[in-house]
Amino acid sequence: MKPNNNNSCMDSTPLPTREGQGGGAAFFNPETETLSREQIEALQLERLQQTVRHCMNNEFYQKKFKEAGITPDDIKTLADVRKLPFTTKQDLRDTYPFGMACVPLRDCVRLHSSSGTTGNPTVILHTQKDLDEWANQVARNLWMVGLRPDDVFQNSSGYGMFTGGLGFQYGAEKLGMLTVPAAAGNSLRQIKFITDFGTTAIHAVPSYITRLYEVMKEQGVDPRRDTKLKMLAIGAEPHSEEQRQRIEDLLGVKAYNSFGMSEMCGPGVGFECPEQNGMHFWEDYYIVEIVDPETLEPVPDGEIGELVLTTLCREAMPLLRYRTRDLTRVLGRTCPCGRNHIRLDRMRGRSDDMMVLRGVNIFPIQIEKILMQFSELGNNYLITLTTDAENDNMTVEVELAEPTDDYKKLQTLEREIKRRLKDEILLTPIVKLVPQGSLPVSEGKAVRVVDKRKVYQ
Ligand code: AMP
Ligand code: ZN
Repeated sequence: MKPNNNNSCMDSTPLPTREGQGGGAAFFNPETETLSREQIEALQLERLQQTVRHCMNNEFYQKKFKEAGITPDDIKTLADVRKLPFTTKQDLRDTYPFGMACVPLRDCVRLHSSSGTTGNPTVILHTQKDLDEWANQVARNLWMVGLRPDDVFQNSSGYGMFTGGLGFQYGAEKLGMLTVPAAAGNSLRQIKFITDFGTTAIHAVPSYITRLYEVMKEQGVDPRRDTKLKMLAIGAEPHSEEQRQRIEDLLGVKAYNSFGMSEMCGPGVGFECPEQNGMHFWEDYYIVEIVDPETLEPVPDGEIGELVLTTLCREAMPLLRYRTRDLTRVLGRTCPCGRNHIRLDRMRGRSDDMMVLRGVNIFPIQIEKILMQFSELGNNYLITLTTDAENDNMTVEVELAEPTDDYKKLQTLEREIKRRLKDEILLTPIVKLVPQGSLPVSEGKAVRVVDKRKVYQ
């Protein structure tokens, strides 16, 4: 296949089958994964023009284009993407449930919905082609990190509306692996599956992997000795490089960062390659922009900004310049692995996760980064914000790795944690060292911050 002559997503190379592709092949979709930068950009322009025309089937976009004074014919170069209006989660809420569909509802075969804490939930619609492309993206990622049809993939992620379940399920099946829909929680059962089925790879949120390890330890199961595990896909929630390293050390396997969001499809949007130097975002499926969240102007490569994504292959519900609220930066556009799809740094968090305490901006991941450097500390922590008579305060509760009643040692440790945290976040929190297993664990994404501050009007 010549990529330049074949610009419709669905005409891409026939996907390898379980028998079809030798395990030695480096790429799952060689033609699209190894495009040069020029080829990627040519393909993106063509697909952007198609997508924009397709959006004109929908009233919401017709109105937005009219307000912006543009038509699809104004998209002549890739840089013209900046002429397009942004879309936001609020747009999805305002058009709930089906107001952003660009195809008739009878052409859709699935929806995913996320419940909103305020207002309407959001709904994401999929045609069969959208689901096939999504599975292809996930399969591509898993192949990239060395998984092959002989592997056994255990998906320890919530199913149902949470896209990490079905997203990885179909992707792992498309690759041809024996796929175990273990779902989240029930660690004893998870461990039984891992040992009985010879699981070689697990997908889960990072906070759950550390919990799983603790239960393995309690059960006398040594992941290196008693399992065939060789890799983990971890994602869906922010985590620090330090947490990843800790997970790799505990389980003795590589852990690859996986980024996704329901609005784009779900998992599969970005994934680390074996270089583990940023996540490749698949630019044949998305246009990636990093903008200043205040001015909405592009920031230079290397600078932190808000990730903005435009879908290039989605039929049911394409999204133009979707403001993800996730903060990251461009690390590079080439890679020794042979893929020239853009590499983005691990997410710093969402702009909505940022805590402002006594005028200082703090992300939970900054605190995690410090905690994970102490081998005396366990994996679970909780940040609580409160107001006392004079001030807003932060309390960091963190579990100890091993029980101890050496009071002096604990005091020294606490002092040292405070000092290191102050260097990182510029204020000194209250630090409480608590026994392992005493902080809440959630089955889905970890809750790291509880904000009990009084809001003064
Ligand atoms: P959802 O649509 O519910 O799956 O949530 C998507 C959001 O989860 C993203 O916008 C990110 O804020 C977060 N997320 C997903 N994957 C990652 C990751 N690998 N690292 C950090 N945050 C992530
Ligand atoms: Zn790479």
